[in-house]
Amino acid sequence: MALTGIEIFKLLPKTNCGECGVPTCLAFAMNLAAGKAELSACPYVEEEAKAKLTEAAAPPIAVVTIGVGDRALKVGGETVMFRHEKRFENPPGFAILISDTMPEPEIDSRLKRFSELQYERVGLTLRPDLVAVKDDSGDATKFEAVVNKVKQNSDGGIILMSSNPDILAAGLKACADRKPLLYAATTENLDKVADLAKQNSCPVTAKASTLEELAQLTTKLTEAGVKDIILDSESRTVRRAFEDQIFIRSAALNKKFRPLGFPTIVLPCEMTSDPMKEAVIASMFVAKYGGIIVLSDFQGESLFPLLVERMNIYTDPQRPLATTEGIYEIGSPDENSPVLITSNFSLTYFIVSGEIEASKVPSWLLVKDTEGLSVMTAWAAGKFVADAIAPFVKKSGIADIAKCHKLIIPGYAAAESGGLEEELPGWEILVGPREGSHIPAYLKAWKP
Ligand code: SF4
Repeated sequence: MALTGIEIFKLLPKTNCGECGVPTCLAFAMNLAAGKAELSACPYVEEEAKAKLTEAAAPPIAVVTIGVGDRALKVGGETVMFRHEKRFENPPGFAILISDTMPEPEIDSRLKRFSELQYERVGLTLRPDLVAVKDDSGDATKFEAVVNKVKQNSDGGIILMSSNPDILAAGLKACADRKPLLYAATTENLDKVADLAKQNSCPVTAKASTLEELAQLTTKLTEAGVKDIILDSESRTVRRAFEDQIFIRSAALNKKFRPLGFPTIVLPCEMTSDPMKEAVIASMFVAKYGGIIVLSDFQGESLFPLLVERMNIYTDPQRPLATTEGIYEIGSPDENSPVLITSNFSLTYFIVSGEIEASKVPSWLLVKDTEGLSVMTAWAAGKFVADAIAPFVKKSGIADIAKCHKLIIPGYAAAESGGLEEELPGWEILVGPREGSHIPAYLKAWKP
């Protein structure tokens, strides 16, 4: 259970040496309680106190990593029920299902889709995360061969799915170095799967048909030394699976119930045979509260909206996505090319730059830091007004690059044109379109 500042203070040395960056141990304790400091900043905490404080500081839902390197997927670590309370921390991973009884060409085309279905949006690469290999054959050699193929042909994380520990061991022979998720430990195979997880330092899924059994299972796994656990409540109806997600999150956060304090896996692939319905179910679990979402297949028309939904829900609501302030070249502009200016809200930047690109008129785009606010909001907040824009334009150096001193401002900031003409002598201020979609027509008609 989280400790209060006073409870934390009682465990600190109370020497007020100031080495942690604040003058007193009490101030440090208050910062720790508020999550604004790391315990490691105090070098003098005794081991026993450190153990208590580390335990208390652990997130109510554990963070579990699947895979290694750049493509490692971190799930869990959530601290709130609702995004607006703070933010959601680690986006869920999307997995594509491959059965070891599928024909080779089908496996190949799924692996191709896994690698190729990725999208650039607001400067980020959106892509799926995991390949789930399912043992339907009951043949360890066959399973190992498919896992090996997946390992050779994809760089994502791997889920090994079998209730038979010998078959999981065969899969591990092929990909233990990729730290796959073992799916799943049940009451029947608990000891053997726990041993495999420990020997290979892999995360493991605990699977049980009731939440009580699930809690017992995670307690046994934890006692056996397995810390990286994913929960499968085995519900395969939408309603029950949804209720389970809410109950698990609430038990971990509101009741501080450690046995359910782990991320979850959900399997829309086993809830319907209709691909569009499956995508809708998956979208529900993006919001509430799937840690790993296994889909029967990937198709661009369903995967892309899921990836965008995930990105939107897992951005920090207190920090709008922002683009770096500066001068951006679009096309190959020269000294006679138009100069436009906009705010650094990422969505604004990508819409405006996309429309300029679509116009095929090479241009200079100035992006002013407005703390991630859109043009209208920034203007209303006084961050995109003449007094703020003019110093940026002067400092940017655009006057030396573009000889045609005409600055195109967004239509929504038209009220600033007079102020800018005063603040930027030698520049002609032109009021551009209000909507991004009108930029191509505007630029095509533009004359230096
Ligand atoms: Fe107290 Fe430790 Fe900070 Fe020193 S470094 S003031 S002992 S909390």
